[in-house]
Amino acid sequence: MRDNIQPILDKALAGERLNTDACTALLESNDFVRIGLAADEIRLRKNPSDVVTYIIDRNINYTNVCNVVCTFCAFYRRPGKPDTYVHSIDEICKRIDETIALGGTGVLMQGGLHPDFNIEWYEDLLRTLHAQYPTFQLHCFSPPEIHNIHLISGLDYETIMRRLKDAGLNSLPGGGGEILDDEVRKRVSTKCTTQEWLDVMRAVHKVGLISTATMMFGIGDRIEHRVRHLERIRDVQDETGGFTAFIPWTFQRENTALGRKITQEPTGIDYLKMVAVSRLFLDNIQHIQASWLTQGLKLGQTALRFGADDMGSIMIEENVVSAAGANTCANEAELRYQIREAGFKPQQRDILYNYVDRDGIDQIDKSDSTPLKKLSVAFAD
Ligand code: SF4
Repeated sequence: MRDNIQPILDKALAGERLNTDACTALLESNDFVRIGLAADEIRLRKNPSDVVTYIIDRNINYTNVCNVVCTFCAFYRRPGKPDTYVHSIDEICKRIDETIALGGTGVLMQGGLHPDFNIEWYEDLLRTLHAQYPTFQLHCFSPPEIHNIHLISGLDYETIMRRLKDAGLNSLPGGGGEILDDEVRKRVSTKCTTQEWLDVMRAVHKVGLISTATMMFGIGDRIEHRVRHLERIRDVQDETGGFTAFIPWTFQRENTALGRKITQEPTGIDYLKMVAVSRLFLDNIQHIQASWLTQGLKLGQTALRFGADDMGSIMIEENVVSAAGANTCANEAELRYQIREAGFKPQQRDILYNYVDRDGIDQIDKSDSTPLKKLSVAFAD
């Protein structure tokens, strides 16, 4: 028997906002193709073109020293352990130089919650990088890191964000969101609470910076927690308008304490459904990003027909989810190929979603795109 979700999809397609009961019904439904078709339609209306964007940037994890324990994390090392590291400015600059040589426009820099790094440490880092690379975009530090600065320096979130902005920060990644519901968060992590994560984001947006928002599900959460997460993101976006994109992905279990306990992982269908429902429920967020790094290139590509309009980064370096088993790699030509074969034109963008056009970029494509219309007819049938 088919789920009776069509009235909900009709509502979304008519431009009406979905409530949390409707969101729950969609996530509980098995009719994921129908949900995907509606999400694809809304995505084409919201980002009206045949373009899928991607970014060339690099994850730099400046330290693996971390003061808290997250049972889903395989990256952190406790302070004082022998295999801890903190990158020097020279090491960070070397990585930025390599990124620029590949056509990169920015860096996503995050680290563990170091017990000794106060606001001045972060300001020095940003000032030095901004002085050396004035047009290179600094997309750095997640809400848990900002909360850690607050604990160490005793400053409120808004003051911290104003100072980091003045030092050269362009935007804040939405990391550390996991599931924004303390019933789940407190079971798996001692980092910042739901309220603290959301309040950091409010402060980020208040000082005029943008950020992304994320969700990592499959950490012992149920559908009701995922719905509350989406609702909280949508509520903050109604207040501030500062989220550029929403990026859901599934927990990567290898080498983690939690991975040994979790018996049922989210499936590919759970992932695609989450992408599609995010597109339908988060009616105030422009971009939904496919997480090919965690889901694999082929599922990431499929997400482009389930409401995602952005393929994320070519990922020159990543240490956090790869430590937990997500080892997919792709260079720019491969990512462009996946986008083209999904029926879209690949387009490089920067952190602010401005298009970046580099001379000769088309020459790395070995064939033309599959026209979108051809695929659409197949879907409409
Ligand atoms: S997820 Fe982040 S905060 Fe949690 S243990 Fe890992 S590095 Fe630390």
